[in-house]
Amino acid sequence: MEYQIPEKIRDLVPYDPISGSYRVRLDANESYLNLSQAQQKAIFHRLETEVSYNRYPDPMAAKLCAAFGDYYGISPDLVTAGNGSDELITLILGTMFDPSMKVGTFAQDFSMYRVYAQCYGVPTVTLQKNEDLTIDVDRTIAEVNRLGLSGLVFSNPCNPTSLGLRREEVLRLVQGVKALVILDEAYMDFWDQSVLDQVDQYDNLLILKTCSKAIGLAGIRIGFAVTNPRLSKLLKAVKSPYNVNTVSQIYGEELLKEKDYLRQAARSIRCQTEKLETMLRGLAAQYPALGQIYPSATNFVYLKPKDSKAIYQSLQQQGIAVRLMGDYLRICAGTEEEHQLLQQALIIALSSL
Ligand SMILES: *Cc1c(COP(=O)(O)O)cnc(C)c1O
Repeated sequence: MEYQIPEKIRDLVPYDPISGSYRVRLDANESYLNLSQAQQKAIFHRLETEVSYNRYPDPMAAKLCAAFGDYYGISPDLVTAGNGSDELITLILGTMFDPSMKVGTFAQDFSMYRVYAQCYGVPTVTLQKNEDLTIDVDRTIAEVNRLGLSGLVFSNPCNPTSLGLRREEVLRLVQGVKALVILDEAYMDFWDQSVLDQVDQYDNLLILKTCSKAIGLAGIRIGFAVTNPRLSKLLKAVKSPYNVNTVSQIYGEELLKEKDYLRQAARSIRCQTEKLETMLRGLAAQYPALGQIYPSATNFVYLKPKDSKAIYQSLQQQGIAVRLMGDYLRICAGTEEEHQLLQQALIIALSSL
């Protein structure tokens, strides 16, 4: 008997981030701050003394969710932990919708939303942003309701545009649509317009957070879904029981307890992002081919050069990885030294255009 691959996944290809060795990696929006030796030692001690590797993890990751709730000032009852927020996005799109429902995504947003929905046979509708890549809330509300969408998923601040929608506008959107709003606040630690404190006020708001960006634990894979008790209960029921491993739970717990360290880390990453943006604007004044630079509310800068591919390739040849996204480039903030190397490489790239 022959297995027929279903149409919905036939043309999918594996996610292929840049591989190979680069002097400078500014392509994946990670934090440039690794855990300190002291932080690692404290965690290793817990691993040595507490972990029974032969036992399953805590299925509800209770201590991890408590540490998350404590850091962000919300009730842990509203929190579900996941193996990265990617797992939660998959789970939410796959279980809270079915093929008779439609979910809205924006053109120029996190590309995985559409991929995951497609894997579950949930149809997506692409909504347009304004010419300047901002979101028109009134038009979006009207479209979501006119098209009868059951869900709307978007990132705020947005990856890749790095633009943010203000809190009042987000809440107006949530109030205006007859749909579940899945609001991905992966980068909100770098901005101050979170609606996390309002999540319990709505029956149609689900917020995603991650430890992969400002918290600096991309390698450990922890994400969170925060929503009202009714939807939280549902999420906990549909997730696989042991989705966050014991070791990751301990890493997350320990780091989320370090509130001062985390706030300081987010501030210094923001400071580097501002420096990166300033540097790029300076270069653009000298080399107009660097094109338009979007104001950043995140830990990366989005730009639209004259020839994105040529610049990308030149940087690549010089050992510097950034993200090419069609006509745009996305460059993540790095250390002072990495910015210097980037600047030198960009000058070489731009001089030869
Ligand atoms: C990086 C990122 C995530 C995080 O994914 P994890 O699986 O938690 O690492 C989620 N959403 C957006 C928009 C991102 O850019």
